Amino acid sequence: MRKSETQAKKNIEETLRRLYLMKRSGPDWVFWALVAGYLLVSGVISFIAGSGAVLMISGQPVPVYTFAGVLSSLSNIMVILLAVFYEKRGYLAAVVLLVAELPMILMGIFLRHNMTSLPGVFGDLLAVITVTFIYLNNRKVDEYQNEIRRQAVTDMLTMLPNWFAFTELVEALVKKNEPFAVVSIDINGFKVINDTMGFETGNMVLIDISSKWKEIADTGSSGTQDFVARLNGDEFALVIRRFRDEEDILKTIRDYEAVLDDQRNSSGYDFYITASFGYAVYPTDTTDMDSVISYSDIAMHEIKDTASSEHIRRYSKDMHFNERALEIEGKIRMALDRDNVFFMLQPQYDMEHKLRGFEALARMRDVDGSVIFPGDFIPVAEKVGLIDRIDSEVFRKASVFVGELIKKYDLDVTLSVNVSVRHLMKSDFLEEMKARIAESGMSAEHLEVEITESIMIESLDQAAKDMEELRRMGVQIAIDDFGTGYSSLNYLNKIPANLLKVDKTFIDSMNSSEKSKQYVAAIISLGHIMGYEVISEGVEEEAQLDTLKEIGCDYIQGYLWGKPMLPEDIEALVQGL
Ligand code: C2E
Ligand code: MG
Ligand code: MG
Repeated sequence: MRKSETQAKKNIEETLRRLYLMKRSGPDWVFWALVAGYLLVSGVISFIAGSGAVLMISGQPVPVYTFAGVLSSLSNIMVILLAVFYEKRGYLAAVVLLVAELPMILMGIFLRHNMTSLPGVFGDLLAVITVTFIYLNNRKVDEYQNEIRRQAVTDMLTMLPNWFAFTELVEALVKKNEPFAVVSIDINGFKVINDTMGFETGNMVLIDISSKWKEIADTGSSGTQDFVARLNGDEFALVIRRFRDEEDILKTIRDYEAVLDDQRNSSGYDFYITASFGYAVYPTDTTDMDSVISYSDIAMHEIKDTASSEHIRRYSKDMHFNERALEIEGKIRMALDRDNVFFMLQPQYDMEHKLRGFEALARMRDVDGSVIFPGDFIPVAEKVGLIDRIDSEVFRKASVFVGELIKKYDLDVTLSVNVSVRHLMKSDFLEEMKARIAESGMSAEHLEVEITESIMIESLDQAAKDMEELRRMGVQIAIDDFGTGYSSLNYLNKIPANLLKVDKTFIDSMNSSEKSKQYVAAIISLGHIMGYEVISEGVEEEAQLDTLKEIGCDYIQGYLWGKPMLPEDIEALVQGL
């Protein structure tokens, strides 16, 4: 739950609590004590009213019946307390007691000619008027409070329940331990509607969607018991109850999604509306009330962040990038401290199967000895700023190894190392590269730095300067994963690269899609025109190799001719050359 929302909820809760305290409420036993007290006092009054007894106080005779006035004031206070503190129940009890007492007083007056009771009749009637007045006034306060409460739990634009009502329901269901699903809904591209059509149209769309969703919830047409709320802006939440299985939940979500299709006609505008639906199930996914809401949110954002074509997704544990990231960060630090970062080398060949060189690929050994792959730790290392240390470790170890290999076997091979753009952007990047090259005993010409295309664009100027310098030193530069980013001729022109690496995804689809094949052919031609050599990554099949030969590729790297290998296997490989 967001912090400001939690605060807002607390404020509203506090206000409602205060209103409630202002409202009458009292323990049951006091209610019955007041009723019993009233009956008792009334009994005493009727007894002493007819009594001629006289008390001697300070030598003065005082007739006992004069105390009836005091006692009747006491009984009136009791009925007033009932009316004030016990709402309708108290009011009714008060009226019944007062009215039931009337005949007794009247009987005393008419049968026993007990005129001292006459003021009691008026007192009684006045008390009825007083408690009625109190009751009516309290009712007004009640209505006012209910209105405040209604406003506190209603979204005033769409008249749907709001976020406050939604969390109250979730809280209540968790308390009852009743199974339910929470669905976080976000209208896709709503900002565009607002920006291009104006707020009025945006609001109209929201109102329209809301009323249709409310209808489904109110009529129960989805087959489950639903509650729909607007949280804010274009965010909604759906609570689904009384489902039998996951299929029921999905069916209900699809019913709500189907409403969006009608939107095109009903809004009178020609645009499509889609939404992302992420959901989590209580108690299967979590038994915590805050978590069930945040998990459905995580699932919804997962759809948005991955620009997925799906619109509905259930929360799953691996969506916890943050928690997992924390764990992996710990593993990275541990591996760096314990010298557990190592490298593998994957061979690269020309089309005649002659060795061009190796790409160094990082690996990490976990405490239990298992190997962790870059897909798991590189994104985290980039995020937490540990990537340069990993790059350096791989670079240092691989360059020392390949440097010795070159000397020992008199090889002419290239060592390619991956450099993260975060690393490249560091002010001392060039110094570090120079130091590492000197340390390895390798000549700069045998080194190649791979930079990923997509990230390079964000920081082109700085990157371009550093790369110019590297080129001047004789280091080769490869553009990695080419074709997956925002390739533009303009920036290709600015990067002093000498090799394009065609991404595996294009090679994968090349033989099943003519378009992909043409795309790879175009990259190769373009690269050649601009003076680059081209290497294809992820070549796994003979047929891919044939096609690449046909369209003029220069090099390949892939499982077909070589997987990433440990240094000793690489040494065996070059010995066999
Ligand atoms: P990349 O630089 O594009 O490396 C190629 C990846 O494709 C490697 O995965 C390699 O093992 C894999 N590959 C090569 N041929 C084949 C094939 O025929 N089939 C299949 N299925 N896969 C193939 P890996 O080692 O998991 O590395 C993944 C990515 O991690 C690399 O992609 C690179 O971007 C990054 N990376 C690896 N090591 C380092 C490093 O030391 N520093 C930095 N910054 N990034 C690294
Ligand atoms: Mg690479
Ligand atoms: Mg690549």
